[in-house]
Order: sequence, then structure tokens, then C-alpha cells
Amino acid sequence: MTDSARQRPLGRRQQFCSQCGHGLRVEIPAGDYQLRYTCNACATVHYENPKLVVGCVPVHEGRILLCKRAIEPRLGFWTLPAGFMELGESMSQGAARETLEEACAEVVIEDLLASVNVLSAGQVHVFFRAALPEPLFAAGAESLEVRLVAPKDIPWGELAFTSNRIALEQYLLQRSAGRHFVWTGNSI
Ligand SMILES: [Zn+2]
Repeated sequence: MTDSARQRPLGRRQQFCSQCGHGLRVEIPAGDYQLRYTCNACATVHYENPKLVVGCVPVHEGRILLCKRAIEPRLGFWTLPAGFMELGESMSQGAARETLEEACAEVVIEDLLASVNVLSAGQVHVFFRAALPEPLFAAGAESLEVRLVAPKDIPWGELAFTSNRIALEQYLLQRSAGRHFVWTGNSI
């Protein structure tokens, strides 16, 4: 769909200016090429850009650490430890932090495994390979349960997100092929 057919920018609906509280309008600003929320009163253009989600495939003696989600979206489904990157941290720091938060596990982040454009959500999901040196883990606040699973026991039908499936498939495929590369592509 084109911007003119859509009548409003992609992303969340915005009504009021976060700078001055004035009502926002939708227009293509001078020199731009797509619709934005703009404020007439203070001239702020409210750009909205994709968000980065960082995570990892933590591995201990061939088994992979998975978390069962205790929160929406996809409550009760299994996920790799991952979450929104915070300001002031690197991607690998974010992936390690999320693993500590969701699985109470200390991982060593290794190389980049997959970068998945999740166009429908306005997100990019980036996954690293990671080592879990000790099999120490527990359910963090956002998890119902955390488990080390052998590849044959991965609950493929109960994964929370397509990007998780891609990361797990790539991890296993590359492990059996004996070579590492970064998978890049889109997911809905
Ligand atoms: Zn304003």
C-alpha cells in the first residue's frame, strides 16, 4: 500500500505532540518522501523507525536454552532469550542482558547468527550464537519455565516467533554443515 492510500504513517497512531502537547497532523514534510506526524505549533517531525530486538542461541553441551514466555505476546510459547535493545548498550551486551533477565543465565556471546527483518512489526531481530559455560539457569520474571533442550526435542510447533524458528534452524543447519555465516532475510 502506498502512503497516500494509507493516509497515515506506518507504526503506532499518534495524536498529540510529545514536545508541546499540540494536536498532530499527517503530512509529507518538505524534502521528505513519506507521511509523518508533524506538529504545527513547534515544528517537530515525529519520525518513527524500526526497533532492534537482540537475542541469542545459548548452548551447553549441544543442548539449547529455551524460555517459556510468561508475558504477552505469545504467552506460554517457547522463545530464545531476546528483547528490545536498550540505549547505552551494544547488541551483544543486550543479548547477554536479556538472557540474564529471562533465564537467569550467564552466557558468553559469540558470533552473529541471523538478522531478521520483521516488517509487519517494524522490528529487526538479531541473534548471536552463545555459550552457556555452566548449566545454571532459572525462570526470570518474564518466563514460566526455562529448559535446556536437545535439538530433537525443540518444540517447533510451540515457538513464539518466526524469527526464533529461523535462528534455531540456522544454528542447527550451520552446526551440521560445520561452517558459520550470517543469515539475513525477511519474516512476516
Ligand atoms: Zn509540538
